[in-house]
Amino acid sequence: MSSEIIKGSSPDIKKKPTPQPNPAPEPIDQPMTVGDLPEEIAEVPRLQPLVGEAIPDPIKDPVDESELVHRDFEEDAFWKHIPAFRDVTREEFLDYKFQNKNSVTKVKDLQEMLQGLASPEFIKDIGDGMAQAPMNMRLSPYVLSLIDWENPYDDPLRRQFIPVASTVVKNHPKLSLDSLHEQEDSPTPGLVHRYIDKALFLPLDVCPVYCRFCTRSYAIGTDTDSVEKVNYKSNPKHWNKAFAYLASRPEIEDVVISGGDTYMLSAQRVKDIGETLLAIPHIRRLRFATKGPAIMPMKILTDHDWTDALVGVVEQGRKMGKEVVLHTHFNTVNEITDISREAMNLLFKRGVKVRNQSVLIRGVNDNADKMINLVKQLSYMNVQPYYVYQHDMVQGVEELRTRIADTVEIERHVRGVTAGFNTPTFVTDVPGGGGKRDVHSYDYYDEVTGVSVYRSPSVDEDKVYLYFDPIDLLPPEGQARWADPKEHDAIVEEAIRAAGLSDLDLAVE
Ligand code: SF4
Repeated sequence: MSSEIIKGSSPDIKKKPTPQPNPAPEPIDQPMTVGDLPEEIAEVPRLQPLVGEAIPDPIKDPVDESELVHRDFEEDAFWKHIPAFRDVTREEFLDYKFQNKNSVTKVKDLQEMLQGLASPEFIKDIGDGMAQAPMNMRLSPYVLSLIDWENPYDDPLRRQFIPVASTVVKNHPKLSLDSLHEQEDSPTPGLVHRYIDKALFLPLDVCPVYCRFCTRSYAIGTDTDSVEKVNYKSNPKHWNKAFAYLASRPEIEDVVISGGDTYMLSAQRVKDIGETLLAIPHIRRLRFATKGPAIMPMKILTDHDWTDALVGVVEQGRKMGKEVVLHTHFNTVNEITDISREAMNLLFKRGVKVRNQSVLIRGVNDNADKMINLVKQLSYMNVQPYYVYQHDMVQGVEELRTRIADTVEIERHVRGVTAGFNTPTFVTDVPGGGGKRDVHSYDYYDEVTGVSVYRSPSVDEDKVYLYFDPIDLLPPEGQARWADPKEHDAIVEEAIRAAGLSDLDLAVE
């Protein structure tokens, strides 16, 4: 590594206090016994023999209650503050059909619903924002009820799913719509084969919510005013081509079924896809990917056919010695309620392993405390925090991206707060199709110009991959250089030279 590598630091992140040696414990006159423990522990019949047993002297101070907030789950009828849902009972609210039927997909319907709840300026701002947005809108009553409409600009759910014009930041000149170049690794529409042993199957192009930051904004949902979508013919008639390709490639052991979003597949389709893929002898692992549990967890509780279909594929895989899991996408604890916990519990009890992949998003989860809280709450409900992605370099959402330096610093604080298997790996999915790289593994990083340089030998050892921090977060000197288009090539060349990689080809010119 070059000695010039700059390691990140963020002024927003609380520094950990310098560790002090543990003071010697105060002598305790009366030893604590199990009888001093909280009732719910001391009264467990199996633990009764422990009552009266002296507890060893504590070597650590008791934890502050604020350290345990991840055990709190929103339990109130939180939807009742929305006038349209005031009379909705818990039973109705938990019905996935109610959620689907009352999801808002048109900006004018949202604006109508918000009359009296949000300010007129904000309501107008949404209309102007949607006119420039690359993604459609789809908001379940669950999501609508969790947004703080008194302060919608800062709300982490609003920021993920509802664009506003007033916060738009100019695109970085290096952004593109398909930044991961998935279409170049696609042997047939709806299938991406980049890594040797793994493939991504995209059976549909619709979702139960449309995320502003979606990496597939080039294809997901219908055309918007600003983006004409690539149609990857996501319909069952074309799936056989993808299955035939997968069957013909013995090196593929792992298939991610995404989209779009597998929440939108019918139960029969979940079963058909799962059984077909499991029948291919060399395929050993399936992952159904969905944002659904974060924005409509009740489907798992009340769409029995869908949940049974998923559990059926998991059980069939297990009988065959193959792993089938659900991958989901919580980005903030604000998406989590007691309904989420109940849904995750149900999957856990029925033997479905759930892993989580988050995206690091400005104003949503871009500080250490928020990320730690998310990691702990996911772990608490048996969802394994697996990945945190650097925000992809997609167009139209520049105000949501963060710097590599911020991600590195957040990771530094997250690692060590809980067990390693519940500690997510922070990755940059490098533009140009280099795949996921550990965010720390850059060969060079310049915090002034915001350029980080990565290699991905397992994908292509002759290429070099670059990630660019958002310009509005660079120091003035870096912003000034990017303001001059004649400087752009020089910035890139400098970074590659400093990394000592001038002999490699640039993945994206
Ligand atoms: S649910 Fe997934 S595929 Fe759909 S818009 Fe969100 S990130 Fe994209």
